[in-house]
Amino acid sequence: MTLNTALEHDFDELDADYVVAPETVTKRQPKLVPSALKAVALPGDGIGPEIMEATQRILVAGGARIDWTTCEAGASANAKGAASGLPGETLDEIAKAGLVLKGPLETGIGAGGKSANVTLRKHFELYANVRPARRLPGVITPYMDRNIDLVVVRENVEDLYAGIEHMQTPDVAQCLKLITRAGSTKIAEAAFALAKAEGRKRVTVASKANIMKLSEGLFKQACEDVAGKHPTIQSDHMIIDNLAHRLVMSPEDFDVICTTNMNGDIISDLTAGLVGGLGLAPSANLGARMAMFEAVHGSAPDIAGKGLANPTALLLAAIMMLRQGGKLAAAERIEQALYVTLEDGKDLTADMAGPRNEKAGSTSAFADRVISNLGQRSQHCPPAPKASLKLPKGKPQTTAVSAPTKRTDAGMDIFVEYGGSPTELAACLKAASAGLPFTLAMISNRGLKVYPGTVPMADFADHWRCRFASRAPQDDLPEQQMAELMARISKFARWCHVERLQMIDGTPGFSVAQGQ
Ligand code: NAP
Repeated sequence: MTLNTALEHDFDELDADYVVAPETVTKRQPKLVPSALKAVALPGDGIGPEIMEATQRILVAGGARIDWTTCEAGASANAKGAASGLPGETLDEIAKAGLVLKGPLETGIGAGGKSANVTLRKHFELYANVRPARRLPGVITPYMDRNIDLVVVRENVEDLYAGIEHMQTPDVAQCLKLITRAGSTKIAEAAFALAKAEGRKRVTVASKANIMKLSEGLFKQACEDVAGKHPTIQSDHMIIDNLAHRLVMSPEDFDVICTTNMNGDIISDLTAGLVGGLGLAPSANLGARMAMFEAVHGSAPDIAGKGLANPTALLLAAIMMLRQGGKLAAAERIEQALYVTLEDGKDLTADMAGPRNEKAGSTSAFADRVISNLGQRSQHCPPAPKASLKLPKGKPQTTAVSAPTKRTDAGMDIFVEYGGSPTELAACLKAASAGLPFTLAMISNRGLKVYPGTVPMADFADHWRCRFASRAPQDDLPEQQMAELMARISKFARWCHVERLQMIDGTPGFSVAQGQ
């Protein structure tokens, strides 16, 4: 028996791994079928269970063999007391399978526990978030005649999403934006690897390095260092706000966009809008040890339980998962059926058909239509990616402390809560530092210098950065005298945060104030 005689579709030639179908093991002519993937399904919250059911039904009908373990995550798990909505058993099953198809998980706004989505990405070091935006056949958008085919590669675990926040005073909140050289290098390498795997030509690095010179600047520099190692791929840099503008004006000019977590979150919703909306936008969260696939959209509570949700984004995410798992035949077959359905325009959900369209289909009617189109090929489909991005495998790592040639302390910033004027504060701080090896160099409020010099016409918060320069810059700050200075300051202002001012290889490792 040749391989081909055992297979039902020409697509199946693409698949690499075959096993004997269990029900034919004892037969004379056992049948070869693609081996099964093991994956965890997290139906999630809101519209999650509806779109997961529709997607899994299409996958089965399309011949994608997947051994599912369905686990709880999100609001219901949270209500049962699971931290971040992620029970231990769910994390264990995910670690075992290494592959996840995830429905949307709710996160309370402004209050409540940590985001289950962000926790999952960080727990499993899924550092690369790949969000393709391709013009889809039959989908009506203002850009439908434009050849949009781009991928946002978003750093997925750092930046403001480290979620390290503190109330500095009862009225001033702070969120740490953490960017590491290792994390930035990894995501840049992933972006260039994706460009190579998919036969793409250009990587555009997008940052806000003009304003956040150290954090976004480090990201930009790391990306440029990686770009230097990939001369066959063009690369450029764009400031993120200009990128947003250019994406709306000429989205067809973009190929791969590599950016930080927060920038990528916003920009990828924009790119989803260009090709038809959130209901059509898939994403992959990739790491060195596992991969998780999901729709870009959230739980859409306004339409949950009404059978209105579009399952396309989750289905496209599942197709990405099949390709990642080497199931190219099933991926191709299901993708073609989806495209044919979009082109035919029958039973499209309301977000695609138009909300007042009486012929709009329900979630399950749309899934039925895709199933009925299995085996057909779309006339105007965008080409499938040449190959999937495979990240280098590896064990969890702790970055070694880097050894710059020289590090010295230039002083310290002491952040204090104070309700008086800058002039009064400056006088008190000078008095407090008398006899200690520190000089009051600057005070700023919300980043704007208010001392020395004239007091600007600005509103002041009760949160001040008081910069003390070491009188004699030395290797280490004299800690006893630092403590003495803080004890003296505590008599008239409450300190809430202290930062060391380091010179790294002679370059300041700290920002100056606006106006300084
Ligand atoms: P959202 O859930 O993405 O929904 C925004 C709007 O987009 C919906 O109200 C709906 O608009 C439309 N929409 C989204 N998905 C759709 C689909 N499959 N079919 C049709 N229309 C769809 O954003 P959100 O309302 O800001 O967030 C809701 C919750 O989801 C929050 O708790 C948030 O934290 C969470 N969230 C989770 C993830 C994730 O799990 N990765 C991502 C984003 C947000 P109309 O009905 O108005 O047309």
